[in-house]
Amino acid sequence: FRKKLAKLKKTSAVTKDGTPITLLANIELPEHAAAANEVGASGVGLFRSEFLFMGRDGILPSEEEQFEAYRATVQAMKGRPVTIRTLDVGADKPLDEADVATLNPALGLRAIRYCLAEPQLFLTQLRAILRASAFGKVNILIPMLSHLFEIDQTLAMVAQAKQQLILQGIAFDADIKVGAMIEVPAAALSLPMFVKKMDFLSIGTNDLIQYTLAIDRADYAVAHLYDDVHPAILQLLAMTVAAADKAGIPVAICGGMAGDIKLTRLLLGMGFRELSMPPAQLLEIKQEVMNIDLLLFNPIIKKILRSYEPEVIAEGIRALQLL
Ligand code: PEP
Ligand code: MG
Repeated sequence: FRKKLAKLKKTSAVTKDGTPITLLANIELPEHAAAANEVGASGVGLFRSEFLFMGRDGILPSEEEQFEAYRATVQAMKGRPVTIRTLDVGADKPLDEADVATLNPALGLRAIRYCLAEPQLFLTQLRAILRASAFGKVNILIPMLSHLFEIDQTLAMVAQAKQQLILQGIAFDADIKVGAMIEVPAAALSLPMFVKKMDFLSIGTNDLIQYTLAIDRADYAVAHLYDDVHPAILQLLAMTVAAADKAGIPVAICGGMAGDIKLTRLLLGMGFRELSMPPAQLLEIKQEVMNIDLLLFNPIIKKILRSYEPEVIAEGIRALQLL
């Protein structure tokens, strides 16, 4: 079975009706780029940069160290795009043990909130990412945005980092794209604010589900309440793909839903064309993509999205598997 899948490495991910789908890899360290290449990923859709920062007793990686890590990744991907997410610490990814003591870490000073509160740390990372962009195709992805002023401050910091490099005569991709993770319900409910200023969107379903359903993603006691096809989640996903399409900007899913083969038909039917997932899932998803005829999906997708009854949604998802 594995061998059969391996043959798909070089095959492009196109549905039966001819719709091309971009399948990307989620990685946590430069070494993982090899695994992304191994399965023929079209690029890295999510480089979780916080793993360069974690487990170091709070000693931060220097600009140089980060640059080397990002550049190694970009070069390993041989011209295929690498989307580097800026530091997403806090909550389930504590930078140091002190973090864990916060009352509600998932609702605390995490991700972009932390970066905007630590501008020197953020600028250092942005410079390192920008410098790597001289060596291949790099996109910058910002986690946990929810306010307009956070978007504005972030873009101002990117501009400032660029300016610093220009003054030092250091090369970078002047046209580098900056995207927002949609992972806070407030973001999914204020998409016009995002599509106006950001170059692309990427949905973090892990956090979007956590915050929408108010269940700690790491708390086993509420794991039974985790429902990625809860009508509220499907509505937020549908709104996001619609807003991105209307604005003419790319939208990806990089949370766990993207790598769940039971949901591939649903997500493609809803209009998603870019999925980023752990490399281990990619070939299986590709095989599924190649078995899909999107032309048959519309009535069922409509029914699923109009319904607020879990049983109707589940039945719709089952029906999609049979087409
Ligand atoms: C997500 O929230 O879905 C996501 C992709 O980011 P992380 O899992 O790293 O929070
Ligand atoms: Mg997240």
